[in-house]
Amino acid sequence: MATLTKDLPHNGTTAAAIAPSIYKEPAPIVDRDNPLESMMQRFDKAAEILALEPGIYQYLKTPVKSVIVSIPIQMDDGSIQVFEGYRVIHNDILGPSKGGIRYAPDVNLDEVKALAAWMTWKCAVVDIPFGGAKGGVRCDPRHLSIQQIEKITRRYTADMLDVFGPDRDIPAPDVNTNEQIMAWILDTYSMHVKRTEPGVVTGKPLVLGGSKGRREATGRGVMHSALRAMEKIGIKPKSATVAVEGFGNVGSISAELLAAEGCKIIGISDISGAYHNDGGIDVADAIKYAETHDHLLDGWKGGDKITNEQLLTLDCDVLVPAAREDRITKRNADKIQAKLIVEGANGPTTAGADPILESKSVLVVPDILANAGGVTVSYFEWVQNRMGYHWTLEVVNERLAETMNGAFDRVFEISQKHKIPLRLASYVLAIDKVAKTLRLRGIYG
Ligand code: GLU
Repeated sequence: MATLTKDLPHNGTTAAAIAPSIYKEPAPIVDRDNPLESMMQRFDKAAEILALEPGIYQYLKTPVKSVIVSIPIQMDDGSIQVFEGYRVIHNDILGPSKGGIRYAPDVNLDEVKALAAWMTWKCAVVDIPFGGAKGGVRCDPRHLSIQQIEKITRRYTADMLDVFGPDRDIPAPDVNTNEQIMAWILDTYSMHVKRTEPGVVTGKPLVLGGSKGRREATGRGVMHSALRAMEKIGIKPKSATVAVEGFGNVGSISAELLAAEGCKIIGISDISGAYHNDGGIDVADAIKYAETHDHLLDGWKGGDKITNEQLLTLDCDVLVPAAREDRITKRNADKIQAKLIVEGANGPTTAGADPILESKSVLVVPDILANAGGVTVSYFEWVQNRMGYHWTLEVVNERLAETMNGAFDRVFEISQKHKIPLRLASYVLAIDKVAKTLRLRGIYG
């Protein structure tokens, strides 16, 4: 099992050397589309199907709050460097806003806005009482020491004291952030409010009130979605071939759990490159290798080295993009050979790629459904914190399966009814729920 938290050293060592498994994204594909535009194009289509009133359309399309902060940090050599941090609350009418925080050199406000909106739709799809938010700090954790990462985290949290709160806005891990970073957020917030407040953050270590099964939850949810979708199109797990892009928390656990269901994993990738083995990849061995080597899979001998582009277009039944946004675009969508795409990452397919995949009859289980297992168990964690009680792993996993399968079935039914793809059906389900709540609550002021 991939572990996110490694022992942290006390001097000078870079974070990448100590916690390599948190660096999950493969080498970037340069032609980025704007994720906010991709989100809006899908939103517009769903709004049309729902005949959304112009006022509600306007309200739901804009985030309720966007905060940008400058984070000055004294570096290990004594110099001062300033990092930019973001937190966007897209919507909070269903409940406190919820969403992860990512650390990456290319984080920007538009990306965070899109990711925050996706969290609103995601929480509504799985029917949990949260709104959507997302945060990010523009930094390259591979070139920062663990002390610098801690300082950035604590200063960012201190700057967000008026935003965060167990009843207001609850962060969680995302790209390049892990349990240790959540522990620092909990500690900084708790020191300021002068009491220990476990419910301010989810995805934290078990001893601090984390939930059993949270670390594996996103990958487990991807597995449930994949199995449900395979059933719909007649792919038998035991004869299915799968390629997984990204080998961080989501990718590695999705691969591990799908392999346990009998699927043959024929391709994996991470920032060091992509690896192909038609005979089937030994996922446990790859996880062990990535955990014990500074550069993840670099040098791993369990598969032939291929490019990330080749991985995405491998001849396989199921493709699980579990890295970053904008991987399947109008430039490579026609080369995709998989019959089923299950989106472990947020926004891996651009809106431009949607019609191409549709014309090829590729079934796509969209991000806001497929990867909702993470936020679902975050919700369970928050509930346990409020109860001051722990659930067993069996209870967590059982409720997760129930939530994921229930959401899949609701989305599938809408897609059949309106004869629309699962992505659009997920947006219709989510936007309808949020819009209904808004109509009931009305506009204050
Ligand atoms: N970062 C994860 C996501 O994109 C989890 C968010 C959460 O648990 O709040 O869904």
